[in-house]
Amino acid sequence: MEYVIFDLEWDNVFYKKEKRFINQILQIGAVKLDSDFNIIDSLSVTIRSTLSKRVTGRFATLTGITTEKMLSGIPLEDAVKQFNEFSRDALVTMTWSDSDLYTIVENEKLLKNSGVSFNMNFYLDLQKLVQAKMREKGYENKNQVSLEFAAEFFGISTEEYSMHTAVDDSTVCGRLLKICYNEDVFKTLLRDTKDPEFYRRLHFKSYPITDISDKALDKTQFCFCCPECSTKLNRISKWKYRNRWFSSPFRCPKCNDKYIGRVFAKMNFDGVTYKKRLSKIEKKEVSNGVQSVSEKM
Ligand SMILES: [Zn+2]
Repeated sequence: MEYVIFDLEWDNVFYKKEKRFINQILQIGAVKLDSDFNIIDSLSVTIRSTLSKRVTGRFATLTGITTEKMLSGIPLEDAVKQFNEFSRDALVTMTWSDSDLYTIVENEKLLKNSGVSFNMNFYLDLQKLVQAKMREKGYENKNQVSLEFAAEFFGISTEEYSMHTAVDDSTVCGRLLKICYNEDVFKTLLRDTKDPEFYRRLHFKSYPITDISDKALDKTQFCFCCPECSTKLNRISKWKYRNRWFSSPFRCPKCNDKYIGRVFAKMNFDGVTYKKRLSKIEKKEVSNGVQSVSEKM
């Protein structure tokens, strides 16, 4: 069985047709591994942009891909063909986090006329596998970690690699895979790219919910408890929606303190996620005896 790990470098360029910026793929790097996770082959291709005559300074600094290098690259469809040829026998294709997959989806429109698309069989998010191993080793933080951080965590020196070069990032991923492989975790993380849900998920655009009466909203997410006495706060006005947040004043029936409760609700492929904030409204005595109210964040 062969595995392929790939990585993409992309630059944020203006796409005139849609009047917005998109992340255009400018480099594909990949490594091939045998069944013992030894690296047996590698691929690195740089792509000539069809949307921009130059790369951004930030991109050049990060990846080492200068405008000259980009201009001497090959068309995206040829690069994808090379990648497909390289990974033809791979049962599982992996990337570090699924952000590369979203970039592939974004670049599909640039490939549309060529009839070429990235071919994958089974897909696995290597970041999830590595973070499962990190948790096993006592790393509690649930936030996504960078590839460099994970490499250092497992004692891989990144000094010999040009990080943010697609093929070197893939190589470091390969070394992490060898250290972190666990058959059970690996199996649970495998995704079949032929399952229609795989791409439906990638094409789903999450959006903030703006209507308080939206049936998808979980009413319990709109309740707050007093930070002082844990009593459920009473809402004392209607919910308002502004700058993507619902907000309303609340009062604690015990302490009588006033608060502003805020809720941000986003519809994702798997359902709604929430962010909540509560801030106290401080009452201040002003010299003339009139109370003014200020909000402490
Ligand atoms: Zn209270």
